[in-house]
Amino acid sequence: MADCIFCKIAKHELGSDSVYEDNEFLAFRDVNPAAPTHVLLIPKKHVSSLLDEGAEQKLLGKMMALVPRLAKELGLADDGFRVVINTGQEGGQTVDHLHIHILGGRALQWPPG
Ligand code: 5GP
Ligand code: ZN
Repeated sequence: MADCIFCKIAKHELGSDSVYEDNEFLAFRDVNPAAPTHVLLIPKKHVSSLLDEGAEQKLLGKMMALVPRLAKELGLADDGFRVVINTGQEGGQTVDHLHIHILGGRALQWPPG
């Protein structure tokens, strides 16, 4: 997707404050953090949302398995953290490239607005 901002970040055409990278995934700090630690984990290949057929079992399994590893590396394991996948308009998705939010570093309120 030529005009997808997260595809550009994945290809390093746009800069990001990355915290993890492998052949398939990239994790980087959110530019507008909603918590002291706010990281986005994305697949490097373009998958538009959780509803995209590209969001298949193997990819989602690998992504979700990375979350506790990243949370530990980010120092979130002791106090806890939240994982969010906003999907579609009413789900609050603003970037149409699948991403997992990892949020922590303060007590988070529930439910969200
Ligand atoms: P969504 O609302 O789609 O679930 O989350 C998109 C997130 O991407 C937002 O939290 C927003 O701050 C973040 N974001 C949007 N553009 C950029 C960018 O260019 N760089 C980084 N690091 N984060 C971005
Ligand atoms: Zn993309």
